[in-house]
Formats: sequence, C-alpha cells, structure tokens
Amino acid sequence: MLNCKQAAERASNKLDRRLPVYKRMGLWLHTGMCQNCRRYIEQLKLLRNSSAKLNAHIENCSDKTLSETSKNKIKKYIQQEREEK
Ligand SMILES: [Zn+2]
Repeated sequence: MLNCKQAAERASNKLDRRLPVYKRMGLWLHTGMCQNCRRYIEQLKLLRNSSAKLNAHIENCSDKTLSETSKNKIKKYIQQEREEK
C-alpha cells in the first residue's frame, strides 16, 4: 500500500504522463481510502489548469503591456513551479 508521500508523487506523475496500470491501481486504492490525497489531487489539477490558462493568456498578451523578457520570466517561473511538484 502506498503512503501519502508516494501517492502524491504518483499523482503528480500521472498528470504529466500516462502511468502503467499497476501504478494507477496503487494510486486508485490509496485515494479510495485517503480523503487528504483526494483533495490534494483535486488541488493539483486545479493548479495545473490555472497555470496552463495563464500560460495561454501570456502567449496572447500584447507586447504593449508586457515585454518579451517579462513574458519569458513569467513562463520560466510557471515552469519551475510545475517541476517542483
Ligand atoms: Zn494519502
């Protein structure tokens, strides 16, 4: 049985790529019994969606309001936040 730390890592990996069935099953079993991890995963999804929307918005921003350098700084920051899990 996974502990919460392992479940959180696996959940984060699951959002990035498709996991093998046995890993998904382990996560499914854990989240079936652990409300905290279910909440964590929901928040993780929300955060991913929000940062993806923000990223898309930044792509479409006019140069009049934000310089290319600033856009790149923000994109880099978002990317680092994603990678930190
Ligand atoms: Zn848990």
